[in-house]
Amino acid sequence: MIIDSLTHILPKEVSSYIEKYKKIDKKFDSIFDKDSKIINCEELIESMKNNKIDKSIVGGFGWTDHGLANIVNDYILDSAQKNHNLIPLCSFDINSKKSEEELIKCISRGVKGIGELHLEYDESFEKNSTWKEIMRIALDADIPILIHGSEPVGHIYKGKGKNDPVKLYELVKNNPKNKFVFSHFGGGLVFYEQMPEVKKLLRNVYYDSSAQPYLYGKEIYRNAINLSSIEKILFASDYPLIKMERCLSETEYLNSTEKDHIFGHNAITAYNL
Ligand SMILES: [Zn+2]
Repeated sequence: MIIDSLTHILPKEVSSYIEKYKKIDKKFDSIFDKDSKIINCEELIESMKNNKIDKSIVGGFGWTDHGLANIVNDYILDSAQKNHNLIPLCSFDINSKKSEEELIKCISRGVKGIGELHLEYDESFEKNSTWKEIMRIALDADIPILIHGSEPVGHIYKGKGKNDPVKLYELVKNNPKNKFVFSHFGGGLVFYEQMPEVKKLLRNVYYDSSAQPYLYGKEIYRNAINLSSIEKILFASDYPLIKMERCLSETEYLNSTEKDHIFGHNAITAYNL
């Protein structure tokens, strides 16, 4: 069993009008341009078949426009309804009053988590009533929130952002009961699980390996397992940003127990699959 814990798809009505959506949505503008790799549902299914991936978790982005969030959420949910090997997540603009209603709709349609959210967490989030309500609904529904993690050092890339380990740690401190998945190994937050008090606070946090070949050497899989826990690291490609085959090839050195956990067991636990 292989689960790819983070992939992204967009409908043609968005991918055919890049310039239009760049003007409408700030996050879209920061991530996409005419040369960006974008795929639809059928292309994702094709890549899964070619790479013997059994299931893919499909996420959105941290949209800043409610209309775009709504279009992409519906597309992901419709795709998952037609293809039972796709696991849907939903994203939204955390500043839009309509987001609570959108989340409740997505949960009623079977969404398994929230994300990928791109944000720059600070104390002001805790005064944002929409954000607090999203956290409460997620807790009640027992669904995790997948959040992009930014490395505080290293090369710059489109959509890297500044949501570094300090911000992710504060987020968990202020919302200790919520379940989180931090993408890209939490921008390095996983390394601080060596500190006993940090490990204790981050007990409800999982890390995915999305875009690993682009960010880290392959040894990070075993290092992260040793630093954190074999129960908390999820294999993810971030396809179409990086090809699934390239990500899979970096995991060949892992033993079968490690593979069982990162490819299946941990995603099943994190997302209640
Ligand atoms: Zn990301």
